[in-house]
Amino acid sequence: MLRCNEVTRLVASERLQTAGLMTRLGVRMHLMVCRYCRRYVAQLRAIGRAARGLAEGDPAQREAVHRLIRALQNQPD
Ligand SMILES: [Zn+2]
Repeated sequence: MLRCNEVTRLVASERLQTAGLMTRLGVRMHLMVCRYCRRYVAQLRAIGRAARGLAEGDPAQREAVHRLIRALQNQPD
């Protein structure tokens, strides 16, 4: 079973798309049982959507980016 730090590094990089079948299956299995990594993946997707909206000039997405930045600034280190 992959560990959380391995899964988060894979999903945040482009290595997952080129990874072997067993690695991709390992990530999927890990995500089925780990709510923390599922939450991380959901946050990455939200950031990606917001960044795309920001690039396209969508005001609602621009506000979403500002909310994310404020939330991240309030996170403990
Ligand atoms: Zn995990």
